[in-house]
Amino acid sequence: MENKLNNWENGRWIGQTLEVENGVCALPANKEYKLDYNDDVKLATDHLYAGVSNFIPKFEWPAYAPLVHAINTLKKDKNAVILAHNYMTPDIFGLIGDYTGDSLGLAVEATKTNASIIVQGGVHFMAETSKILCPEKRILIPSLRAGCSLASSITGEDVKLIKKKYPGLPIVTYVNTSADVKAESDICCTSSNAVAIVEYIAKKWNVDKVIMLPDEYLAKNVAKQTPIEVIAWHGRCEVHARFSSSDIKDMREENPGVVVLAHPECPPDVVSESDFTGSTKAMSDYVSKNKPKNVILLTECSMSDNVAMQNPETKFVRPCNLCPHMKRITLENIYECLRNEKYEITLSEALRKKAHKAVMDMINVDFDPLKGHFDPSLSATNVKVI
Ligand code: SF4
Repeated sequence: MENKLNNWENGRWIGQTLEVENGVCALPANKEYKLDYNDDVKLATDHLYAGVSNFIPKFEWPAYAPLVHAINTLKKDKNAVILAHNYMTPDIFGLIGDYTGDSLGLAVEATKTNASIIVQGGVHFMAETSKILCPEKRILIPSLRAGCSLASSITGEDVKLIKKKYPGLPIVTYVNTSADVKAESDICCTSSNAVAIVEYIAKKWNVDKVIMLPDEYLAKNVAKQTPIEVIAWHGRCEVHARFSSSDIKDMREENPGVVVLAHPECPPDVVSESDFTGSTKAMSDYVSKNKPKNVILLTECSMSDNVAMQNPETKFVRPCNLCPHMKRITLENIYECLRNEKYEITLSEALRKKAHKAVMDMINVDFDPLKGHFDPSLSATNVKVI
């Protein structure tokens, strides 16, 4: 792989980082941690550099290595693990993450670990999902400001009102929601299993219509794949909603032969223009399996960086929409989170149990992973948005 730094100029990131506090491996700030790049640190960390050499300039490594070493030492001392979401920057994903993947995959991994502390490298709803599944463990999130436009588009009270307005219809809720929204839902879904869950719950309730919350675009993309009628909420992921079909046409013109992969949180016309649409895991699997020469991932920017780390033979064209919420998790605040053991996620047991049922009912549904791939050629159907 050519050793070229994408979107870097004079050692600094020149992408969208300016809008957020931490871009792609933004240089750790000098916060007087008194952490030196000494011989012990070198010995413990220098072998890790190769994995992130396309994202961290060599001359900046001495600024990262002491924090990486301090975090990895704290993890051992405190019996802690770090769950690193696919949208974390490559320094977090590749250097300190013990488990990597999508939000539900991470929460399920959390149930299998013997660690007593889990640090969520991700946003608030993900940390809540880990707490829902692992009530006996301490779940910490490094920044309370790591939210989500989808999760904040709806509350548990909204769901109660929807249930009153549409009695007899099941509520399918995307995992990208708060615990109180999950607790009011009949079943959860992910972007991998959304079509299967909609069909499963419609059959179970003997109805031909379901309510799907809160992502309007995911609901519309699901509706294209199934005869079940879908009623949607007006929530959107501010990262995926920004892509447009004209962006894809421009990118195809500029990069002949490029393969375009889209996340189903993108608008339906973007999905129609893509070559493949699926969850973050499905996209990552697609690249590993098909090894396209040139690929564009229409999803959060760090995802491309992280998939690129595992697929050095593929060239990634990066349209680069960063999630400002995800970028609030940094090496520094993970270090402080572990050191000071904050911020801890707590949920009332009554609420946790209700949310747990919605999540577990989903996990217990057997589904064909191919059903999680969205056929871009299917035409749009009418979806009522409430
Ligand atoms: S990428 Fe979208 S869905 Fe994910 S945390 Fe950011 S705003 Fe929320």
